[in-house]
Amino acid sequence: MTTREECLELDRNDALAGLRDDFSLPPGVIYLDGNSLGARPRAALQRAREVVEQEWGTDLIRSWNKAGWFELPLVLGDKLAPLIGAGPGEVAVTDTTSINLFKVLAAAIHLQASNPERAGRRVIVTERANFPTDVYIAQGLAQWLGQGYALRLVDRPEDLEAAIDADVAVVMLTHVNYRTGRLLDMSALTRHAHAQGALTVWDLAHSAGAVPVDLNASSADFAVGCTYKYLNGGPGAPAFLWVAPRHLDGFQHPLTGWWGHANPFAMQPEFIPCTTIRSGLCGTQPTVSLSLVECGLDVFAKTDMAALRRKSLALTDLFIELVEQRCAAHPLELVTPREHAVRGSQVSFTHPHGYAVVQALIDKGVIGDYREPQIMRFGFTPLYIRFVDVYDAVEILARILDQRDYDLERARDAVT
Ligand SMILES: *Cc1c(COP(=O)(O)O)cnc(C)c1O
Repeated sequence: MTTREECLELDRNDALAGLRDDFSLPPGVIYLDGNSLGARPRAALQRAREVVEQEWGTDLIRSWNKAGWFELPLVLGDKLAPLIGAGPGEVAVTDTTSINLFKVLAAAIHLQASNPERAGRRVIVTERANFPTDVYIAQGLAQWLGQGYALRLVDRPEDLEAAIDADVAVVMLTHVNYRTGRLLDMSALTRHAHAQGALTVWDLAHSAGAVPVDLNASSADFAVGCTYKYLNGGPGAPAFLWVAPRHLDGFQHPLTGWWGHANPFAMQPEFIPCTTIRSGLCGTQPTVSLSLVECGLDVFAKTDMAALRRKSLALTDLFIELVEQRCAAHPLELVTPREHAVRGSQVSFTHPHGYAVVQALIDKGVIGDYREPQIMRFGFTPLYIRFVDVYDAVEILARILDQRDYDLERARDAVT
């Protein structure tokens, strides 16, 4: 079994170890929830002060131009683009993942409906186990459209290809599953979807900043994702959307607010869509929050996704190895794939008392989270998690399980 001393040695030899200094983490906490809310980049405090004191407080409305507030969604989009295999001018940071999903899904359906050879397609394929908001948004859109639009919910990832047939307009998938951490093969599924005449929408909520993504090389059509998870943009920070360059001309979505207008300050009564990725915007953005996204993205500029991926797999391998050895006597079941090619940057185990165990871990400074049913979920952000953190977290977990040191009566918090 790997010892604590060996973990410290791995940290000493880790070329990425210094990046942890770019984050402010509270003492006594092992933070294994960066897949839900990323830790705060140190720079974010100073940036927040600048935005609030100088840009808002002093420069006031002049900041739309002077501080570049108006251009920020696209400036940040260009900074984010290399992390997801996108080019400049292809990404906008704006709105929420749910709202962006609505926009790109509607746009994909519109593209299909305006193609005479594909206009009869009415099915949206996704996984039943997809993150609920994705399924809800697709359901809402299908109901709103009427005319026979419907969802086809697939139960197992292995069955996805077979579910994509000549009735399918859009395949909407989340690249890394939020519960299991399973990573789908974006290239293969996109190729299959295209061969069947369907378009693809990829949700990168648990991929951006967590695993290498190459949207253009995969020939994906549309994508969305969060900045507050592995990209460390801050609580509720705006999400992003990506449109493949070949679709930008035909990109039309129903949220035609003035920020997507070709010339918003012409104040014309007619909506003329902007011809750039700006057409993905709707209205005025939460500028304070948006500004902080940059601090998270700046850290990624100091490394690359290949190096982060190597460390992420080493961390998750170590966690699986240690849990299986130290907690072998307990009813834990690994739900995350062992195979590297299909694993994201998280590890989930089920335990019959998963919620209570996670609460006990949090009480002892190991912050993971809980997802129904029975899933204890641990995210590993290679930017700031150390090998010794993995070791210590497993020791604390083993002690809690050995001593049954968790409270089954404890009431559920609203956010688990
Ligand atoms: C976290 C997550 C979301 C969150 O959407 P919001 O609109 O930001 O609440 C959506 N989809 C997936 C797959 C997620 O993991």
